Amino acid sequence: MSNKFVGAHTSASGGVFNAVKHAQEIGAKAFALFTKNQKQWVAKDLDTETIDKFKYALEQSGILPKHVLPHDSYLINLGNPEAEKLEKSRVAFIDELQRCELLGLDKLNFHPGSHLVKVSKKDKENADVMREIEDKCLDTIAESINIALDKTNGVSAVLENTAGQGTNLGWRFEHLAHIIDKVEDKSRIGVCIDTCHMFTAGYDIRTRDVYEKTWSEFEKIVGFKYLMGMHINDSKPPLGSHVDRHHSLGKGEIGLDAFRFIMNDERMDDIPLILETIDSDIWKEEIELLYSFEN
Ligand SMILES: [Zn+2]
Ligand SMILES: [Zn+2]
Repeated sequence: MSNKFVGAHTSASGGVFNAVKHAQEIGAKAFALFTKNQKQWVAKDLDTETIDKFKYALEQSGILPKHVLPHDSYLINLGNPEAEKLEKSRVAFIDELQRCELLGLDKLNFHPGSHLVKVSKKDKENADVMREIEDKCLDTIAESINIALDKTNGVSAVLENTAGQGTNLGWRFEHLAHIIDKVEDKSRIGVCIDTCHMFTAGYDIRTRDVYEKTWSEFEKIVGFKYLMGMHINDSKPPLGSHVDRHHSLGKGEIGLDAFRFIMNDERMDDIPLILETIDSDIWKEEIELLYSFEN
């Protein structure tokens, strides 16, 4: 029996329970979803009927709650340097955690945050200046997480590594480690590694050698005990480009070998492995392809 739980980020349009239905249609053993419209700040509360329908659908599907990886709204920036906007993000983040709690789910995946500082070309080349800007933002993110975890129960905050586009932080393993270090409740903080983001951030995984090197760096800096999920994407842009553009498996710059390594790596057992590849029409085939890689 396979210990891999592969799925995709399915549509919850019409109700969160539809995400379960779509997951089943593509033969998924895991899935991700937005529990509210990801482009809006406020959503109406989840009503009892919706919650019951979701829980029933999930139970019927045989997919375990721990293999569901909800994603928060793209608007939230837990490292926003402006007090008012930061507060808005924190309120929305707490609401997202509570929605997961209501649905009986134990994880919420989110992008750490962006420092939004307009850095001059000269400062960009100054490692000390950049370090100060980044550290301040990472501290704010950790503080946001501490506040949110304190106000909620049972749901872990799952930091996603980013491509490092613009002023987004979380692309270096050190950024993730910095945040984890400052989070008080270590039992409710984890990471989700997106293979496209990892690759465009500069971490190569295309051959056995570099795959092992990248993950041993991950183990040393962050630690596999914090790995709570993965996003399985190929990448349109090249290594180290810091551009976030996903591609279908085998069609991008990463190529299939990396995904073969992952499917045979027991360090990725029992966590949601979620496709966010660009063509949802072939998710079923991509899931089958991934399972066919297992030795
Ligand atoms: Zn992702
Ligand atoms: Zn992405």
